[in-house]
Amino acid sequence: MTSETTQTERVTAETENENERLRQLITRARVVLWDFDGPICNLFAGHPAEQVANDLVDWLGGRGLHGLLTDAERQALDPQTVLRALHRRHRHSDLVAEAGERLTQAELKAAVSARPTAYADPLIRTWTAVGSRLAITTNNHPRAVVAYLDSRGTTSCFAPHVYGRTEDPHLLKPDPDCLNRALNAMGCEPSAALMIGDAPTDFVAAAQAGVPFLGYARNERKAKPLRDAGAQCLVDSLLPVLESVRTGRS
Ligand SMILES: [Mg+2]
Repeated sequence: MTSETTQTERVTAETENENERLRQLITRARVVLWDFDGPICNLFAGHPAEQVANDLVDWLGGRGLHGLLTDAERQALDPQTVLRALHRRHRHSDLVAEAGERLTQAELKAAVSARPTAYADPLIRTWTAVGSRLAITTNNHPRAVVAYLDSRGTTSCFAPHVYGRTEDPHLLKPDPDCLNRALNAMGCEPSAALMIGDAPTDFVAAAQAGVPFLGYARNERKAKPLRDAGAQCLVDSLLPVLESVRTGRS
């Protein structure tokens, strides 16, 4: 046996193990909890999140509150980071409420030009058709999620189970709050659910809720932080998930 053959056999065995792990995750899931931005669509495809973050920073600056954020928080270019930071310093204030509403308006605008993730729509429909129940567990505002789902005709696959950002930014993932709300409302044990997410915060929230996790990472840049956080089952496309749902439940 050549070393080349051994290598090929090892890769084949690893692939089979991964396929089996994926199949098990999928067949055990009665309820599927989806992160929104990433696994379902690229929300900020036409309206970059960096611009939304900069707009929030400029709005604070216009109110003479530039110093509320650290340089690192400003440079993160992430609107959720800005919101969380404001909340840490001014819990439940009108300022946090207004920043949250600004972010929601930006997400609603972004939803119009969001780009669907490849195979997400057929996977959502197929999973629903085979009898699984679906929910959205996201850090985005439910209004933006529903606006997007309406535009794709998939709202009925999830409604009424859309759990997103509330007026309490400290409950955003990695806090498991939105997952727990979904599990409670759907009467589902954590072990009978599956979370699909694309960020370490999704993995941490799922782990805290006791929910098995499937990572979606379309490239190595997205995969590494998930693996570093401890995620063990990753896919770089939703196609193998779709194929597994089709064959596994037929
Ligand atoms: Mg995401």
